[in-house]
Amino acid sequence: MTNRSTCAYRRTGADPVRGIFELDRLTEREKEVLLLLGTGLGNRQLARELCIAERTVKAHVARIVNKLGQQTRLQAAVLSVLVHHALCTDTHCACRRAAAIEDPPLPSAA
Ligand SMILES: [Zn+2]
Repeated sequence: MTNRSTCAYRRTGADPVRGIFELDRLTEREKEVLLLLGTGLGNRQLARELCIAERTVKAHVARIVNKLGQQTRLQAAVLSVLVHHALCTDTHCACRRAAAIEDPPLPSAA
């Protein structure tokens, strides 16, 4: 067990970051859904936000997960948070300020 990587991505082979290279496969609507997915809200609330039926949200999410090469909606949500600054067009969004910080402080490893 001592040779096992401590990197969760290498250890499990599940790396949401890889999905970044598939973002161009999404339609504009799917990008909008992906952005909302990053809020962690459920399908009912996403449906309300998008003014569409809950089953339509489910269909969008399934296609997004598939196109991004992910296995779960949670992995797509993680990816959404990572690329929020690239998808968000709101000029007042806090992600703009966060992106301006060159070296954000990281928690020290235990
Ligand atoms: Zn934003």
